[in-house]
Amino acid sequence: MDNDMPPARDWHTLPGEQALSELDSSHNGLSSEEAAARLERYGANRLPEPPRPGPLMRLLRQFHNVLLYVMMVAALITATLGLWVDTVVIMIAVVVNAVIGFIQEGKAESALDAIRDMLAPHTLVLRDGERREIDAAQLVPGDVVALASGDKVPADLRLLSVKNLHVDEAALTGESVPVEKHTEAVAADAALGDRRGMAYSGTLVTSGQALGLVVASGTATELGRIGAMLQQVQLTSTPLLRQIDRFSRWLALVILVFAGATFLLGIFWHQQPPAEMFMMVVALTASAIPEGLPAIMTVILALGVQRMAQQHAIIRRLPAVETLGSVTVICSDKTGTLTRNEMTVQRVVSAEQVVEVSGAGYVPQGGFFQLDGQPLEIAGHAPLAEIGRAALLCNDAVVHQIEGHWQLDGDPTEGALYTLALKLGYDPATLASELPRRDVIPFESEHRFMATLHHDHEGQAFIYLKGAPERVMEMCNRQRHGHAGTAPLDPDYWRRMATDIAARGLRLLALAVKPVDGEQQSLSFADTESGFILLALVGIIDPPREEAIAAVAECRSAGVAVKMITGDHAETARAIGAQLGIGIGQPALTGAEIELLDDRELRDVMPSVEVFARASPEHKLRLVEALQASGQVVAMTGDGVNDAPALKRADVGVAMGRKGTEAAKEAAEVVLTDDNFATIGRAVREGRAIYDNLKKFVLFMLPTNGGEALIVISAILFQLTLPLTPAQVLWINLATSSTLGLALAFEPGEPGLMRRPPRDPAEPLLSGFFVWRVFMVSVVMMAGALGLFLWELDRGTGLESARTIAVNTVVACEMFYLLNSRHIYLSVINREGLLGNRYVLISLGCCAVLQLLYTYAPPLQKLFGSVGLSAEEWLRVFAAGLLLFFVAEFEKWVVRRFFSSTQP
Ligand code: ADP
Ligand code: MG
Repeated sequence: MDNDMPPARDWHTLPGEQALSELDSSHNGLSSEEAAARLERYGANRLPEPPRPGPLMRLLRQFHNVLLYVMMVAALITATLGLWVDTVVIMIAVVVNAVIGFIQEGKAESALDAIRDMLAPHTLVLRDGERREIDAAQLVPGDVVALASGDKVPADLRLLSVKNLHVDEAALTGESVPVEKHTEAVAADAALGDRRGMAYSGTLVTSGQALGLVVASGTATELGRIGAMLQQVQLTSTPLLRQIDRFSRWLALVILVFAGATFLLGIFWHQQPPAEMFMMVVALTASAIPEGLPAIMTVILALGVQRMAQQHAIIRRLPAVETLGSVTVICSDKTGTLTRNEMTVQRVVSAEQVVEVSGAGYVPQGGFFQLDGQPLEIAGHAPLAEIGRAALLCNDAVVHQIEGHWQLDGDPTEGALYTLALKLGYDPATLASELPRRDVIPFESEHRFMATLHHDHEGQAFIYLKGAPERVMEMCNRQRHGHAGTAPLDPDYWRRMATDIAARGLRLLALAVKPVDGEQQSLSFADTESGFILLALVGIIDPPREEAIAAVAECRSAGVAVKMITGDHAETARAIGAQLGIGIGQPALTGAEIELLDDRELRDVMPSVEVFARASPEHKLRLVEALQASGQVVAMTGDGVNDAPALKRADVGVAMGRKGTEAAKEAAEVVLTDDNFATIGRAVREGRAIYDNLKKFVLFMLPTNGGEALIVISAILFQLTLPLTPAQVLWINLATSSTLGLALAFEPGEPGLMRRPPRDPAEPLLSGFFVWRVFMVSVVMMAGALGLFLWELDRGTGLESARTIAVNTVVACEMFYLLNSRHIYLSVINREGLLGNRYVLISLGCCAVLQLLYTYAPPLQKLFGSVGLSAEEWLRVFAAGLLLFFVAEFEKWVVRRFFSSTQP
């Protein structure tokens, strides 16, 4: 599709206007029809997926595995020895193993693919002359897109207009200092990093705004040309998986050496026939190597990640799953995360009057009242009219009615002001034409204000300003007095009023205006330093989320501290914190106070502070570092470009999927698609559950292999008749180990999960207790199967039925032990424990059917030498399984009763 792109040109050498006309576009962008036609012609704005191995390749790769090599060699040798039945069984085992691995890998991949799509970037584009948010993949050459700070540049752009635009081009040029951009054309031979009139796909806007013309999309972009991969969710490993992988390789090696030694010993010492000895060794290897371990662990992880995505938490980097389970502190945003982010102005305070505003949400219905409850006549109320004008002009949000529903597009704080203006009777379109906007300084969390420049038709100009009151008051020297007069600023009055509003938990904003020279056409920070007239303070309600209150309490009981970090006023923060149960009776620490503390002092006050107000992104970074220095595992939320360092630094960076910028998402490990605090709580819970399931699976898998291996080893050591033939061992592996254990991947989190303290990240998985459990279960399983086998021989029944019993006993033990494995420490002797996971029941059912086939189906009887069993014999098999079940439950009881400190 890239050969179909518009002729490659040196776009950086062309003036913006010429680029527009060459691409048949205009400042209003393309029409939807034209865009659709071009999309058809040029293809989607997407880089091709990294080439993935085809299905055949992936299937073949499954054979690249120590165990399968051993088995294939064994098949070769049995074939040369003419033991055809064994050859066939081994080959079937090899193929089934590979196919199961293939299916599992596919499942893990598709789980992650689904998540990948949820992170597709969006972009603001002009279509039919209107701003629209679309999937960045829909962009075509000729589109005009708007960039704002934190955006990832979605395609190669020729910049048409810029406002203080700085772009981090490290992804392309390796240069990490952001480059300032302009709209001029540059020389043809300018290096990529010097083409200031261009913005390239994949780079990040660190500040400012711009409009740019798409000149190349998809593979035709510079990024596409160098073949760079966009960062995506990847099936990378985690520390635990690596640990397990290393462990199972090491184990395989030990087993091979051991098997080799047994072989030599058997031939030269016990003078066993080499062919038989060889088969024993193959059986031993096949029974002892836990071949499915790393593969199923990956599946457990991928399924867990998929479950989290359904609950609105997208994991961008897999190891975060493990870290989530050990988080000890969550530092959360306030606005939108802990609160609902549906803002409504409740109070307006001017120099002369306090006005209450009724109504809820963004519906422009509500009245104005004096403090004594008397309705206020707003018609002809000049001060309120001016306040409404400032609220509507210095505003980028839009509230519109869609099918009777009032809906906000933009920042909720601004939405609240927009609705206030509508309540005051303004028509936005009329006002915008009376006082058109010439320039803007957009709101950024660091400077905490926004300003706009407007001209009226009499040649007068005004700067409207809104922002945090402390900031705005620094810029004002006068306040509105009467209808159009001014008086000197009375800071005490305003401060008193601000504290009063904030103590009610309302969010605070101040509005101001400054008349300027009618000639002025642009705004710079110098224009906002002084000379403003303060109009009013506005108090905006933003109620806490109900579910956040419960989630905070749950995190607490799980040993996870919750801290709130906000750019809001300290009093507002405390009042909202109190409603959520955060920082009650504790002081709030403000950004200014944080700045007065050195790192040591900050570390010392951290434990006693839960609310941080007027905090900037730089403060977030310091807070993370202070917490980590005192040994905490920190989850930190963020949404802006400037939060990226704190998100990277935190053990788990959490970006907001809705209001968050691409820059923040890129830096984070987890993206919340609903910006909700409760989701972080759920992610911690899910992280713990996944880790538990990994442990449970290991605890199930190792003893089942261990038991079989012990049976074979003891037979060799005591020179007994082999209770299991190699073919039978392979059957057991097929029927159980890769299928039964998988059911544990679907194990729901345990009931007490969020009442435990966080996991110590340094704690090894295969701790002393685990080794003991593996050993104990292996021994019981071996005792049951070998005991029944010998007893059966003793009674004089044939070898074939004794072996059939041994096989069924091992499988029955595994089936019962699967139930035990649902909980590591808790008892499963209850309704939930026995029936709580339907996948366990399904896999038990399947396993039982397979065993009946094994015992009674003639072809299988022929292949494995199995024979039908009597009811009494079945009863004994069942009893052996039940014995293991009760021994394991008893062991758990002892551990709970006497070693409760070792519980997780
Ligand atoms: P939060 O942590 O609550 O999200 P913000 O950084 O968004 O804090 O806002 C900090 C302060 O900046 C607010 O209390 C408010 O006074 C002011 N503010 C917020 N949004 C805007 C805006 N769009 N324009 C001007 N000022 C704003
Ligand atoms: Mg905010």
